[in-house]
Amino acid sequence: MLEIKDLHASVEDKEILKGLNLHVKAGEVHAIMGPNGAGKSTLASIVAGKEEYEVTEGNILLDGEDIEELAAEERAHKGIFLSFQYPVEIPGVTVTNFMKTAINETRKAQGLEEMPAKDMLKKIREKSELLDIDRKFLSRSLNQGFSGGEKKRNEIFQMAMMEPKLAILDETDSGLDIDALRIVANGVNKLKSKDNAVIVITHYQRLLDHIVPDFVHVLYDGKIVKSGTKELALELEEKGYDWIKEEINA
Ligand code: ADP
Ligand code: MG
Ligand code: MG
Repeated sequence: MLEIKDLHASVEDKEILKGLNLHVKAGEVHAIMGPNGAGKSTLASIVAGKEEYEVTEGNILLDGEDIEELAAEERAHKGIFLSFQYPVEIPGVTVTNFMKTAINETRKAQGLEEMPAKDMLKKIREKSELLDIDRKFLSRSLNQGFSGGEKKRNEIFQMAMMEPKLAILDETDSGLDIDALRIVANGVNKLKSKDNAVIVITHYQRLLDHIVPDFVHVLYDGKIVKSGTKELALELEEKGYDWIKEEINA
């Protein structure tokens, strides 16, 4: 599904990704870990198509198609979802209404008719029940006064509604409490299927106590320097990143 080959990327002439390779197949959950400043968020932004980053070498293929020339919006329409794409506060626009608009705009871009109101309601009901989101939450103003956990809940609800082919969750917030972590983990576990893939980026092993990734990668100094299964996450938790540094320099 996603194939990243020898990706080099810079921001303001500083090279941040330095030959990164990653291969994600449908049905898989990948965790990307690594020390602060390694380039994890940069990778997420580049795959999603944010424009401040310049790809200087390498390719990003989605289902075999090179997506480098596509704008962020076009990538979203092809099914790439990056968490916190919509962090705006919109007074008077509810969680539900925002979602209806997002879905219908995507459908329009794909040449489809608006989703009939009845189907939309059904989908909202199904997804909110699946994720244990109550009705009161759905009628709140988007992001207004949301706690950390509520922001996560909204994000996971957006992901459930958009049904992305590839979801990238960048858990940058070091202040995530255990409830917020559970919301994210529960969402990923319930939404994963054989047809989609999830990349969870995290600095913290504890998120992976609740999500069992198929693969764990260490991103260090702009490259994936080590890949393994969930045991690698436990090893990192125990030993930190210094041993990886030593392995690389050996
Ligand atoms: P991580 O998410 O792994 O902590 P980032 O991808 O956020 O790492 O950052 C990697 C490096 O790139 C850091 O040195 C950071 O300062 C730099 N960087 C990231 N984005 C920008 C930007 N928009 N402008 C300037 N420097 C950036
Ligand atoms: Mg950072
Ligand atoms: Mg980051």
